[in-house]
Amino acid sequence: MNRTIAVDFDGVIHRYSRGWFDGTIYDEPVPGALDGLRTLMQHYAVFIHTSRSPQDVAPWLVQRGFDVQVEYPGDPTQFWTERGALLVTRRKLPALAYLDDRAVQFTSWPLALAELLPADAAATTPPGSVDQVQVSAEDLRSLVQLARCHVENLWITPAEDLALIERIHAQLGGEK
Ligand SMILES: [Mg+2]
Repeated sequence: MNRTIAVDFDGVIHRYSRGWFDGTIYDEPVPGALDGLRTLMQHYAVFIHTSRSPQDVAPWLVQRGFDVQVEYPGDPTQFWTERGALLVTRRKLPALAYLDDRAVQFTSWPLALAELLPADAAATTPPGSVDQVQVSAEDLRSLVQLARCHVENLWITPAEDLALIERIHAQLGGEK
C-alpha cells in the first residue's frame, strides 16, 4: 500500500486565527502541528496540499526545521514517496488520507447531505435507492449521531431521541 498522507496548511499547520487576513502567513503553528508532522513523516511520505503559492509556504516550514521541496518531480498521478522531505503543492496528488480542517468524510450521499445541508433543508434519499422518504437534515443528522452512539456501545435513549424515532417511524409508515 502507498503510504502517503496529504496535510492541509491553513487551520491544520498554520494557526490561521484571523482567516485569510491580508494573504500573508502571519500566524504561529497550530499547537502540536510541528511534532505531529515529524511523527507522521516517520511513518509516511507527507505532502502539504494548499491553495497558497508553495513558494510562500516553503520558507515558513524551512524556518521551523523542515526539509521542503516545492517542485513535484513526478507524474501527477504518482504517489509522493519521499520520506525525508515535505513536498508543498497545490496539486491534489493521490494519498492514503487527506488531513483537513474543512473536510467531511464521504461514506454516502445521504450522510454527506445530512452533514452539509442547513438544518431546515429537506434531505431526500437518492432516486433508485430505497423508498423515497423525506427527512429533515437535522433529523438525519441526529439519526447518524444515534447510530454512532449505538456502534460505540453508548446506547442511551433519552425522551427527545424516542420522539425523533417515533416521528421518523410515522413518516416511514405514512409512505406505505
Ligand atoms: Mg484549512
